Amino acid sequence: MAQALAAKPACDLDEAAIGELRNALRGALLQPGDAGYGEACSIWNGMIARRPALVARVSGAADVVACVNFARENGLPLSIRGGGHGIAGAALCDGGLMIDMSLRRGVRVEPGRRIVRADAGATWGDVDHESQPLGLVVPGGIVSNTGVAGFTLGGGFGWTSRKCCYAADNLVSVDIVTTDGERRHASETENADLFWALRGGGGNFGAVTSFEFRAHRHGPQALCGMVVYPMAQARAVAHQFRQVTATAADELCCLLILRIAPPAPFLPKELHGTPIAAIAACWNGDPAAGQDAMRALKTFGKPVADTITVKPFIAHQTMLDSGQPFGRRYYWKSDFFADMSERLIDAIVEHAERAWEHPQEDRRHIEWAREYWAATHPFSTGAAYINFMTEDEDDARVRAAYADEVYARLREVKAKFDPGNLFHGAQNIPPR
Ligand SMILES: Cc1cc2nc3c(=O)[nH]c(=O)nc-3n(C[C@H](O)[C@H](O)[C@H](O)COP(=O)(O)OP(=O)(O)OC[C@H]3O[C@@H](n4cnc5c(N)ncnc54)[C@H](O)[C@@H]3O)c2cc1C
Repeated sequence: MAQALAAKPACDLDEAAIGELRNALRGALLQPGDAGYGEACSIWNGMIARRPALVARVSGAADVVACVNFARENGLPLSIRGGGHGIAGAALCDGGLMIDMSLRRGVRVEPGRRIVRADAGATWGDVDHESQPLGLVVPGGIVSNTGVAGFTLGGGFGWTSRKCCYAADNLVSVDIVTTDGERRHASETENADLFWALRGGGGNFGAVTSFEFRAHRHGPQALCGMVVYPMAQARAVAHQFRQVTATAADELCCLLILRIAPPAPFLPKELHGTPIAAIAACWNGDPAAGQDAMRALKTFGKPVADTITVKPFIAHQTMLDSGQPFGRRYYWKSDFFADMSERLIDAIVEHAERAWEHPQEDRRHIEWAREYWAATHPFSTGAAYINFMTEDEDDARVRAAYADEVYARLREVKAKFDPGNLFHGAQNIPPR
């Protein structure tokens, strides 16, 4: 990864400077050992052990301005925590200042204009909680405690994205603090170049303090759920998934899931802890119109559980939460596939295995993931998605996430708004 500003360890900072920052903030400024520091630094991926010297639990944009100025003036590494879900764990920096947005979770809905505004610490669960009772949705992640901020800045797709596009496509405007400490508004008509870069360029351009989205009609009831098969039927499940998705209407979003069964109440107890193959699906439209498509997902083989029915969309959005708990040790590899060849299906089924919790098992599981990726990568398009990148993905992989002309333009915007690379984020786009 490209380097950020020449960083000096925070222990070199004098106490007077830290005291000045503390006085400038309305939120708390925490150091290791302070009450709340551990909670602020506990992120989703338990593999990441970085320790910020300072954590600012910001209460608003003025606090963010103070933090950005402090980090820039003192040459400190800077990181930003939204929902803390980034697999790379770049919400945490070592020895620097972390801006912790996670206490700023306000969401406001304007139903008449179908506008949703979310503060930078909000999760998709927070957004759904306010918008779903009004029958409105913004395309969020498939797990409800994923943060709006990192998700949207990297693109962000979910159950409604085939119909309503990515979260970033539905962004109307943002409020952001750039590296010079200025508060800016970015939209199609104001700071349009910055606005363009923020829709997929990740956390490279400043600290976003709030997001304004266009919402769509969906819910509160929707046709959705999951059909589950034992792993022994995985090939048949993959074939059916391929066949249905090849011609599916945009209203249908499906996920093929091969994993160890969590202790979910809708699964028979004897399946808990055993490998399963499942298709999770959501129909984004009139439930009556989606019944045929859903039937095609479950009228083959012998399912052991079937939860596909008309139910609150919020129940579907939270269905996968318990299978991805905070603090477990995670390692991912990811790719895009334009189609599912027999050889790809073979490789997927052969490698489907399990998650882990103990550090002594890291090497075995990481090697498994890398072998799995090596076996399937030859069938991929070669493109990449920044929201799914671990901390060991290199610059070439970040580069692969963008078309040449897009990457070149992102670097120009970066040079204009953050020439010193203060906001290096998880997947850095260096200034031109
Ligand atoms: C269980 C799980 C399920 C997921 N499901 C999906 C899915 O369905 N679809 C999908 O597209 N992705 C999904 N993701 C990936 C997700 O989009 C990324 O992990 C994303 O970075 C999470 O955002 P966050 O705010 O929670 O993360 P954080 O770790 O808090 O932030 C990640 C990075 O975003 C940047 N950032 C965060 N907040 C700000 C801010 N306010 N201003 C500027 N930069 C900021 C920083 O660079 C930070 O390092 C999932 C991740 C997990 C762990």
